[in-house]
Parts: sequence; C-alpha cells; structure tokens
Amino acid sequence: MTPLNWTPVDTGLPDSLAPRIEPTSLPQTRLLAWSDEAAALIGLDAEDRSNASLLDTLAGNAVPPGARPTATAYGGHQFGQWAGRLGDGRALTLGRLDGPQGSWDVQLKGAGPTPYSRGGDGRAVLRSSIREYLCSEAMHALGIPTTRALAIVGSPQSVRRETMETTAVVTRLAPSFTRFGHFEWLSHLDDIEGLRGLAVHVIAKHFPDLVGNTTGWLTEVVQRTARLMAQWQSVGFCHGVMNTDNFSILGLTLDYGPYGFIDGFNANHICNHTDQGGRYAYARQPQVGQWNCAQLLNACLPLLDTNSEAAVEKGTAILDAYGQAYAAESVRLWRLKLGLASAHDDDPALVNRWLTFLHRSHADFTLSFRRLATVDSHSEAPDAGRDHHVDPAGYDVWITDYRARLRAEHSDEAARAIAMNAVNPLYVLRNHLAQQVIAQAEAGAPEGIDALRRVLTQPFTEQPGAEVYAAEPPPELRHIEVSCSS
Ligand code: AMP
Ligand code: MG
Repeated sequence: MTPLNWTPVDTGLPDSLAPRIEPTSLPQTRLLAWSDEAAALIGLDAEDRSNASLLDTLAGNAVPPGARPTATAYGGHQFGQWAGRLGDGRALTLGRLDGPQGSWDVQLKGAGPTPYSRGGDGRAVLRSSIREYLCSEAMHALGIPTTRALAIVGSPQSVRRETMETTAVVTRLAPSFTRFGHFEWLSHLDDIEGLRGLAVHVIAKHFPDLVGNTTGWLTEVVQRTARLMAQWQSVGFCHGVMNTDNFSILGLTLDYGPYGFIDGFNANHICNHTDQGGRYAYARQPQVGQWNCAQLLNACLPLLDTNSEAAVEKGTAILDAYGQAYAAESVRLWRLKLGLASAHDDDPALVNRWLTFLHRSHADFTLSFRRLATVDSHSEAPDAGRDHHVDPAGYDVWITDYRARLRAEHSDEAARAIAMNAVNPLYVLRNHLAQQVIAQAEAGAPEGIDALRRVLTQPFTEQPGAEVYAAEPPPELRHIEVSCSS
C-alpha cells in the first residue's frame, strides 16, 4: 500500500463557514470503479485499489490520520434566482494530498449529511455517481478542464429518490473546489474581510502571478470561464445545471448532474428534464457563463474599489473580457475542428452554416465532425459523407464551399486528417452508454463502468472492438430523460 500523507484542506474561508464534519459510514461497501489515471495524480498505483483501509477512507467509514473532513458554506443563483445559502450538502473535503505534479483536494460526494444538507439525506445514488465519475474522466481526456474522479464505492443501503435506489460515494479530486457561490455567500453576509481573505487565499494558491492584482485575477477567472464555455460548445456538451454554485473559480467543469453530450444536433437542446424553460439549453450556455461571471463580479465589487460607482465601472470593464475571450477561443476551436490552418474573416460564417445544417438535419454532432476528416478537398465528386445525412443536397452545398476554403489555403490532405482526428472525438459519453453501464451496475455487474471509462479515456483514437461506443444511439434510446434527481 502506498502511504498517503494527508493534510487538512485550507479552504481560505472563515472557520465558521468550513466546519469539521464526520462522514457517516455505509454498510457492505465495495469498490465499483477506480481510475488508474486519477490515482496516479495522488501517487497511487493500480494495486492500491485493493487496499482495505483505503476503501474505508473512500467509503467515508474511516477518517485517515492528518485528514480533516470539512463541509463548506456557499450560496448561489439557481436558474437565475438568488437561492440563499446552499453549501456542501453531501460533499466533504477530506483533506489534501500531494501528488507528483501538484496537490489535490480530495472530496467525498455522498458521504452523509452536513449542516448544509437542507433536509436532504447527504447521499448520492449509484446512478448519479457513475455519471459523475465517467464524465469527469471523459472530459479530462477531451482536454477540457474538469474536476477528476478517483473511484466509486457502492453500498446496498438505499435512499428514496423517484424510486428507492442504492447509494454510492464518488471520490473527486481538484486543485480547489472553490465555487463562485463561496464568494457570493460571503458578499451576501456582508463579510468583506472574509471575502477579501478568500480572494487573497485563492490568488496566492492558484494564481500566484496575480498576487496583489485583484482586477487581473478576476479578468483571468472571467476569461477561463469563457474559454470553458467555448470548449463545451465545441464537443456538444450541455452541463444542465449552470447555477453559480456549480461554477468553479478555477474554470473547471464542476458538479456533473443531468449533463449530456448531444447526439442528433439541436442547438436548442435541453439536457435537464427539470429545466423546462430551457435556461441552460446548449445555445444559451455561453451567455449563461457570462451572466454567472457578472454575479461573481457583483459579489467581488467591494474588492475592486471602496467607492461603489468606481467598483461597478471596474467590474463592467472586467466583464467585457468575457465576450472577447469567448469569441477568440470559439473561432479557434471551430477552426481546429474543421482542419483550417489559417484564419479568414469568413470562417465564423462557414462554421455557422455547418452547424445550421447539422441542426436542421438533426445530424449526429460527434460523428459529423469526425467524418469531415475524410473529405478530399481536390475531388469534384460528391463526398461519401453525404450518405450519412438526411439532406445530402444541403451537405453537398456546404462541402463545396468547405473544399474551396481548404484549397485556398493549400491544405495538405494527410496532415489535415491527422490534425482533425486529434480534435474531433470519436467517443463521447453518450447518455445511452452511461445508461447501459448504470443498468448493469445496478444489477450487480459494475465492470462495465471502467470498461466504458477506458474507451472514453482515448476519445480520439479508433479502438478495435469499440465500434458500439462510437455509434449513434438506436432510435429507442435517443430521448433518455435526465433530471436533477441524484
Ligand atoms: P446540485 O444540484 O447537486 O448542485 O445541488 C444543489 C445543492 O443541494 C447543493 O448545496 C447540494 O449539496 C445540495 N444537495 C443535493 N442533493 C442533496 C442530498 N441528497 N442531500 C443533501 N444535500 C443535497
Ligand atoms: Mg452543485
């Protein structure tokens, strides 16, 4: 067993907002999934998965020496409304571990109630734990900033959701789990010292180049958030619950609930069944990211200037960075996805016409991009990819312009195909894939979880025997509804 050197997490929050809370133990726990890649981050190897005392730690059944399980208070805007105090209702940050490339806060999600549970049971069901685990690791493999997931520990103990479901604990890792909502809550309490303390702490630890430069730090947070939104859009990822309490101060994808990767493209896709107004629909994500940044800036106004008018002016200027960062990152990513080496003014229009075509014909988002790598820019013949589309004539029209654009920059066919296959994934965590392994795990066969994770960990590399993971969902599995219940 690799020894772990636990130290307490310094959250940067006032003590009253980060109390020590013991996890609540679970009976008959069993390790259901284990990510070797995440384990390596904290210096563990594959053999550590069978260590009984580590299993107890990850189940919340024992607190290792040096750790200090902590739940934190945060607030947030949920679906556009101030929701008051939320907080870690079912998450405990156990402690910090140093790994070969940095240190990690280690958090148990679903380890029992805390002072912030608001009547909830503090548990997470197996279904949502599998979804969080898989997507954390899949997003990382796509190159998208995210919290990581080390393991899932399951227990036969059940809790009530729409039906009775068994519970599990996911171990999450992140350099920090600090959320926009932590700043909002301190601001709401009018605890300006606490707010300043948290900002100073976060900057010193995670933005060391920006010590003493609050404006520079907030600008960086806004830009990271904008770039993250552009990355989500570029892979057809919908978060589902973009409340400010689910937004990371480090610009990480955080809190995987009713998220979804779009299969047949619909720009207005709503992945969260509970989001009836479509506030968090795919096409709205970039503007919601900006709105969330505005809430963060609003909370941090006292840090920008003691004069409130001057502070608002500074905050507004910082928020301007969002639009610029989003536009730049977005066009950069779409260009990469289309295999365009140079920048032309008409590129956004070319991208928009392609997305409009995919939207109108409801074509599979992931596979449509992946197949573009085989387009021959010098050919005059119809491209073979047209057969995958319900509107082949519409495809031909766009492909003609696309080929002309590639020829104009003397694109090298072979090099372009390689570059495109390195950015357009073949495998993404489609809902029906998650659903299949969830059903198997609920029936007592959890092996599919890591089998799927391993495929998703190499999303750009065609893997023999993995065809089923790349395929579009069969018609009967196209409209799986995912709600906030977790
Ligand atoms: P989420 O929608 O998962 O981001 O959760 C929103 C808020 O509700 C957070 O403060 C969670 O900690 C809390 N919460 C969600 N589910 C539970 C639960 N089963 N028990 C206690 N708190 C919960
Ligand atoms: Mg949350």
